[in-house]
Amino acid sequence: MKEYRDQRLIRLLKLHLAKKPKQKMPIWTKSFKGLLNLFLETNCPLCQRHTPDTFCQYCTKQLQSCHLKNPSYLWQQPLPVFGWGSYGGGLKRAIATMKYDNQPQIAHTLGQFLGETWLLKSPQQDRQLVVVPIPLHPSKQKQRGFNQAALIAESFCQTTGLKLQINGLERIKETQAQHILSASEREKNLADALAVGQAFRRRPPDAPVLLVDDIYTTGATAKSAVYTLKQSGITVLGLAAVATAVTYPRH
Ligand SMILES: [Zn+2]
Repeated sequence: MKEYRDQRLIRLLKLHLAKKPKQKMPIWTKSFKGLLNLFLETNCPLCQRHTPDTFCQYCTKQLQSCHLKNPSYLWQQPLPVFGWGSYGGGLKRAIATMKYDNQPQIAHTLGQFLGETWLLKSPQQDRQLVVVPIPLHPSKQKQRGFNQAALIAESFCQTTGLKLQINGLERIKETQAQHILSASEREKNLADALAVGQAFRRRPPDAPVLLVDDIYTTGATAKSAVYTLKQSGITVLGLAAVATAVTYPRH
């Protein structure tokens, strides 16, 4: 009886080994190859050249030429700002492509750049911080599909090891595009646009906040974020931005 069962098992096993690779492997190999192609043979989102990285060598060079020699040149009160690059050329193109051409993977690379520079040149290296991205209004986020500041902050924290609180702030009012408004209109536009997020309402942070955004220009949004957090007794150390578009004097 046992011998019969063993022979039957061996026969079944042989049948399985003979058939399975022929029937299943090609499908599996095909889809695996397809996946590999998807990852390995991507195009640079800025110039469409083939590259295994986010950007091709040419565009990486263009981006690196925007890298600030002194990322802390705006690190001063009332709002200390740390920046990776100056807003122009390749960096401006990369940010525009990320936001308006649906390329969220660019945010990951830019967040990594910012994180690496923070580790090397941070003005406040030893401090415990909680990283909070500048939020988008939910309807705008739905339209874009992602909040670039949140993706940058996520990658920034992966690189630096700092704590991330994605919902530290909320945007509760839809605002008009800031660049078409005057300075006073901007402030009015932003008043009450932000609120302390659910995460901090439940439990305030045990360390100062470092805000993260893609671009720092007039600082109106960042100032509004600082004001909102301060109202709830939360300290803000400053803002880390991938690109800064400011030269002295600051507004
Ligand atoms: Zn390129």
